[in-house]
Amino acid sequence: MTVSATRASEAGQPAGHEDARNGEEFRRAESRTAHNYHPLPVVVAHAEGAWMTNVDGSRYLDLLAGYSALNFGHSHPRLLAAAHAQLDKLTLTSRAFVHDQFADFTEKLADLCGKDLVLPMNTGAEAVETAIKVARKWGYQVKGVEADQANIVVANGNFHGRTTTIVGFSDDPDARDDFGPFAPGFTNVPYGDLAAVEAAIDDNTVAVLVEPIQGEGGVVLPPEGFLRGLRELCTRTNVLFMADEIQAGLGRTGKTFACDHEDVVPDVYVLGKALGGGVVPVSAIVADREVLGVLKPGQHGSTFGGNALACAIGSEVVDMLAGGEFQTRATELGEILEARLQAMVGHGVLRVRVRGLWAGVDIDPTVGTGREVCERLMARGVLAKDTHGSTIRLAPPLVISAEDLSWGLDQLEAVVAGH
Ligand SMILES: *Cc1c(COP(=O)(O)O)cnc(C)c1O
Repeated sequence: MTVSATRASEAGQPAGHEDARNGEEFRRAESRTAHNYHPLPVVVAHAEGAWMTNVDGSRYLDLLAGYSALNFGHSHPRLLAAAHAQLDKLTLTSRAFVHDQFADFTEKLADLCGKDLVLPMNTGAEAVETAIKVARKWGYQVKGVEADQANIVVANGNFHGRTTTIVGFSDDPDARDDFGPFAPGFTNVPYGDLAAVEAAIDDNTVAVLVEPIQGEGGVVLPPEGFLRGLRELCTRTNVLFMADEIQAGLGRTGKTFACDHEDVVPDVYVLGKALGGGVVPVSAIVADREVLGVLKPGQHGSTFGGNALACAIGSEVVDMLAGGEFQTRATELGEILEARLQAMVGHGVLRVRVRGLWAGVDIDPTVGTGREVCERLMARGVLAKDTHGSTIRLAPPLVISAEDLSWGLDQLEAVVAGH
């Protein structure tokens, strides 16, 4: 896609707020929903690749990509073709019966992960819950942990989803406060601190659940060697290493999995977001038979998990990743991203963390809050999202062109420089 003359910023006025229908639709949307989000005032009607168009026809460059759910961009022709073809044939059987898309998806995904078995679910939080259940059952049945004593080590600053069990081991007050009482059985340690993980592990520890890079936390990279050390520690102590690759995995960091950067294979991959190609929610956990084999009929399930439409799209996603071109794009475009962001350090940016086409940008508070920066970006035709007050997370679709990426970063550079 080329740089377009219809871009919002080139109309010489802030888009979104000024667009009549957009403003009206935004007010309607906000008036009848719980305010559990604080969206930027843009109402999108159409999107292709890295570009979204609002209800008035103003165009915006998407530098969030649905928190990595849209790694392949909007309306990718391969994913749309897979979805359309499947829609006309079969969408859902429930797992009471088997459908003809199931074997393809599970085989391909297991092979991509180098594991035996796949358990498909829908959302990321459900996949994390599934991993927790499997780890506990594995602990009691295989490791021999005493009944109801299993514990799981997790990291401070984690984000694993929004269920009551999961927010119970979050240390973000917004995610957690007033939602208790919480499930016991979790021990928090500082992120990236191997000695703290080791100290937290006891005879009842069944798993360490960790994001190989913390996404919601602001693209926080663990110290070099942490994942390798964690692999060695978990093997030595007979504890499952469960990698939540929901946001970091599937091409985002320039590798298929973020764990690949340290040549580490976890015992359990927890996947979601991009696995559904931005079309439908698809999540899964992937592990070997000695782990996932602990589940017997009736012990876990989901009405929609592994449905025919999800499997058809998920298969296409795995095929696309197996080719390696998206990982290569993430690496190559990531070099542009990193160079441009490093040049902004000291000019409105305090710090940046980059891995592949993924960045956490800590904004100098004198420039404004993260939210204010995102509002100014929106006025220039760029959509991004702040996290934790003063950090902007950039996760452009991996299909973005180098020219569009550079243009988007021009806008960020201008905003943080106070223009
Ligand atoms: C988004 C996310 C989840 C939760 O996924 P949902 O589909 O929103 O339930 C879990 N873990 C990580 C690392 C995530 O980024």
